[in-house]
Amino acid sequence: MFIGHFGLGFGAKRLAPAVSLGVLFAACQWADLLWPTLLLAGVERVEVDPGNTAVTPLRFVAYPYSHSLEALMVWGAIAGAAYWAIRRSSLSSPVVIGALVISHWLLDWITHRPDMPLTVSGTHHVGLSLWNSVPGTIIVESLIFAAGLITYVRATRALDRVGSIGCWSLIAFLLFVYAANLAGPPPPTATLVAWATQSMWLLVAWGYWIDRHREPRPS
Ligand SMILES: [Zn+2]
Repeated sequence: MFIGHFGLGFGAKRLAPAVSLGVLFAACQWADLLWPTLLLAGVERVEVDPGNTAVTPLRFVAYPYSHSLEALMVWGAIAGAAYWAIRRSSLSSPVVIGALVISHWLLDWITHRPDMPLTVSGTHHVGLSLWNSVPGTIIVESLIFAAGLITYVRATRALDRVGSIGCWSLIAFLLFVYAANLAGPPPPTATLVAWATQSMWLLVAWGYWIDRHREPRPS
């Protein structure tokens, strides 16, 4: 899942208006932000395997620290606690952040083959395999993305042109990357997948940037 995660990140702004969109993106995508570094460190493993599912040419061999339910629950608790410690915010913001971190597992569970670990050390893997269907994946993911986006656009307004142009160009960029991933050829190596995925940090920075140029609408 790709844009679906960002849909939840956008939508969460309504529940936690004080939290920057950059933080919300980092939370919903924490698993995929951590994953490439663990791949490059040799801690987790992925293989290029064209046809693994209709949607992805990747075989997720092992990713317990970034993608098991157990690990993401721990990461979610850490993220929420860290935010609260730094910002001394109301309780709702850290709860939303923690839930977003864990939401990554749920959305990936819907799309992945049964390769999603439940625990860090266990051998039980689950997944609903939506990725076996390209139209099914696009429909489900687009609906989540659209719902989150509509919620976000209704909950915030641009303070200046950067706030609107920056926001709409990010949406266009996300859709472009999504389409390119679906239509493009499989990546040549797993190492290249890891380096390319590091660019996800750019989207977190983009979220921060937009957030400084938009404000919550008075409800
Ligand atoms: Zn993921």
